[in-house]
Amino acid sequence: MTVSDEKIKIPDDLKQCVAFHGHICPGLIYGYRVAREAMRLMHLSRAGDEEVVAVCENDSCAIDALQVLLGTAAGKGNLVVRNYGKNAYTVLSRPMRRAYRFSRRTGYTYGGKERELYDRLEAARIAGKASENEERQLKRMKIADLLSQPFAELFTTAEVPYDEPPYAPLQPSCPCAVCGEMTMAGKMIPLPDGRRVCIPCSQQS
Ligand SMILES: [Zn+2]
Ligand SMILES: [Zn+2]
Repeated sequence: MTVSDEKIKIPDDLKQCVAFHGHICPGLIYGYRVAREAMRLMHLSRAGDEEVVAVCENDSCAIDALQVLLGTAAGKGNLVVRNYGKNAYTVLSRPMRRAYRFSRRTGYTYGGKERELYDRLEAARIAGKASENEERQLKRMKIADLLSQPFAELFTTAEVPYDEPPYAPLQPSCPCAVCGEMTMAGKMIPLPDGRRVCIPCSQQS
């Protein structure tokens, strides 16, 4: 029996992430593992407001697990996406004034027969030649690996200086001088004639 044949046990909190995200995938598991580790290190519970902040260095599926477990949600201003295309995340706790950065160490670390299978499937996938069945098998392998490895095998963890991010700005809205739609004051663009307009209107004039 290989890892890819085993039945993967999905914990309840991961099921919540899957329900939010829409499917299970390796990216979601990255976010799940990072969120769990951040919660363990800083004794976090899900942020009702902005007491936890996540800075994500990619815009992948992982973000959705952070939103579900940490409450670092796109609409609250405590999810910061700096898309460097890196599998790295910083989680800050405002009450504890502490921050940790987690960065993926390596690729998948199979040995022996698993390695051969993985390399073959991954090569087929990258070449666009993997069958639907092979795609599924590869995904299962990755998910099983990401769920079963000790966290330290997957990510390096570093406590980083606590650099408190500003709270989400609360600003009044004013009507755009061109389209009339209400727009946050700080997002409006002044025209040479002194009128203030929204960004789409500024790009048309
Ligand atoms: Zn996904
Ligand atoms: Zn406008």
